[in-house]
Amino acid sequence: MEISELQKIIRDRYFKSDNERGIHHTALWFHEEVGELSAAIARGDKQNAKEEFGDVLMWLMTLANILDIDMQDVVDEHLNNPRKLPSK
Ligand SMILES: [Mg+2]
Repeated sequence: MEISELQKIIRDRYFKSDNERGIHHTALWFHEEVGELSAAIARGDKQNAKEEFGDVLMWLMTLANILDIDMQDVVDEHLNNPRKLPSK
């Protein structure tokens, strides 16, 4: 699946309620999920970390939708700019 497809699915399903919640409250949800992911990693709970990666990804897409940012563009820009990629 392309990033743009995933973002569109989330937009089509949830944009109305996400937009009504607003960027600040949605950012709180996102940060809560990042905390849950960090906790799973700290416990060494790989199965739970896998679930939390999904939660973080979905909320990240939601934030991008509210801000009208195309995540496919974001990914493409990073892949085309070696300085933005993590160094080995
Ligand atoms: Mg979670």
